Amino acid sequence: MIAFKSCVIAAGSQAVRLPFMPDDPRVVDSTGALALKEVPKRMLILGGGIIGLEMGTVYSTLGTRLDVVEMLDGLMQGADRDLVRIWQKMNARRFDNIMLKTKAVGARALAEGIEVTFAAVEEGGAAPEPQVYDLVLQAVGRSPNGKKIAAERAGVAVTDRGFISVDIQMRTNAPHIFAIGDIVGQPMLAHKAVHEAHVAAEVIAGELLGNKELASAAFNARAIPNVAYTDPEVAWVGLTEDQAKAQGIKVKKGLFPWAASGRAIANGRDEGVTKLLFDDSDEAHGHGRILGGGMVGTHAGDMIGEVALAIEMGADAIDIGKTIHPHPTLGESIGMAAEIAHGSCTDVPPARK
Ligand SMILES: Cc1cc2nc3c(=O)[nH]c(=O)nc-3n(C[C@H](O)[C@H](O)[C@H](O)COP(=O)(O)OP(=O)(O)OC[C@H]3O[C@@H](n4cnc5c(N)ncnc54)[C@H](O)[C@@H]3O)c2cc1C
Repeated sequence: MIAFKSCVIAAGSQAVRLPFMPDDPRVVDSTGALALKEVPKRMLILGGGIIGLEMGTVYSTLGTRLDVVEMLDGLMQGADRDLVRIWQKMNARRFDNIMLKTKAVGARALAEGIEVTFAAVEEGGAAPEPQVYDLVLQAVGRSPNGKKIAAERAGVAVTDRGFISVDIQMRTNAPHIFAIGDIVGQPMLAHKAVHEAHVAAEVIAGELLGNKELASAAFNARAIPNVAYTDPEVAWVGLTEDQAKAQGIKVKKGLFPWAASGRAIANGRDEGVTKLLFDDSDEAHGHGRILGGGMVGTHAGDMIGEVALAIEMGADAIDIGKTIHPHPTLGESIGMAAEIAHGSCTDVPPARK
């Protein structure tokens, strides 16, 4: 038994396993996929999210042919569709079948491989024929470990889905017990977990040391960036165009094609785009702050931090466009996307009215 004044729960999450999947070494989750034993000829990625597509990129680069099955109507849900479209075009060669609005509904372990059966999500939709795979990667999401640690015995409330609810100081309903990371909610990302952990540590230290400033720490980030470490990378932060539309938020967009970026051309990788969205509501009077942005292209993940900073600082298109970005760099594309939204970019022809 260990006694403590304060405690931080950081027990994470685990991959969701589909109940009909056979217990077979040819059926793996992301941890199993990282322990590469041999290069399969045909692989099914179950779930077209970031983790599945990252793993698929590795295997396909080694020679594996990929199929992906996804229940929703597009891969990499959550990312801006303009970015995903380019990613998909660049990656089409890796896939034999991209099965959207389709779900896996059954599987059998055969001597020759894992046979998977599919069904259309929409009533009356056509389902693909069953297929046999050398490897099936289950990447259909992760579930929090809240129900696995008997937290309720310490008085900590756990939701039905296994999440532990916290306030902005990462405090659970038990005042001396904090929780951070995947176990407290989406997005399940390492950089979110670390920021939450800093908050919890500061609050605890502040309370123990009687330091009011530390004790008042809170997690109040406006946006958390996402990166798919695929080839090309896809990175985004804040609002996407679809989310803006769904929420009835009027946005002005700046979309800079990397075909006009000297650095991207020199790299031989000019397929990318950088896209920024600014508040275009009447109240913004043409000087709306940045609401979101992203890019698809090499090193996208290295650049998205600037867009996150712009959101945190409430920058508008002039702030970003008039910030001098070094030439020739991929980072210039952020300044140019802002100039396009502002209407002052001299590196691309003006948008047709
Ligand atoms: C394949 C994959 C790729 C990823 N790539 C990225 C990425 O590129 N960037 C990114 O930001 N995030 C990525 N993530 C997500 C990231 O790993 C998690 O968001 C992050 O690790 C969450 O931190 P955590 O502390 O909540 O949990 P974890 O890092 O999972 O740590 C939880 C720890 O608690 C231990 N544990 C669980 N139960 C108990 C118990 N009862 N007693 C003792 N110990 C216990 C676990 O074994 C584990 O070591 C990826 C995740 C996966 C699966």
